[in-house]
Amino acid sequence: MTVLVRLLYASKVSPNFGPMDMRDILESSRRNNVEQGITGLLIMADGHFFQALEGDRKVVNSTYIKILKDVRHSASIILSSQEVDKRQFSGWSMGYVLSTEKNRPLFLSYSAGKYFDPLAMRSAAAESLLAEIDGYARQLGGTESATDTVI
Ligand code: FAD
Repeated sequence: MTVLVRLLYASKVSPNFGPMDMRDILESSRRNNVEQGITGLLIMADGHFFQALEGDRKVVNSTYIKILKDVRHSASIILSSQEVDKRQFSGWSMGYVLSTEKNRPLFLSYSAGKYFDPLAMRSAAAESLLAEIDGYARQLGGTESATDTVI
């Protein structure tokens, strides 16, 4: 049986993460995710990744297991995993959000300290941040793009 799920996790960017690593990650993610029916969003901010993966439960699980083995990040924790009726990011094979001056206040509004720390986020806060980013990107007309930074 196929069940649509959304998994959210956070991790730490590896210290030796280089400028070309993000390009490589997005390239393979977008290629693999289209093939596997996965959609989602990847945020990199303040030395952390925060990612949403949506799709069939088995496929999302196996993709997360593959991502866990990637040396370009560490200390990954699942923030939330739930069955959902509808995808939030159906237009994105993997939308990418980099921290900028413009969106930084949004990230910081979900942090106790002065840096974005998704490893310390509660599930409900993680879901709520995603919903806000989705709304933001829709306002900017960014939901059609599977290749660009979305906000
Ligand atoms: P290729 O596309 O052929 O490899 C692409 C490049 O990545 C090559 O330069 C290769 O040397 C390098 N590479 C591959 N695997 C690793 C690894 N384990 N460690 C270091 N370098 C490696 N993949 C997805 O399919 N979907 C996702 O949504 C996704 N999200 C990611 C999020 C994060 C934060 C990170 C760190 C990785 C993510 N990846 C994702 C990448 C994933 O971990 C694998 O690297 C990728 O799926 C391998 O794809 P491929 O087999 O087609 O290899």
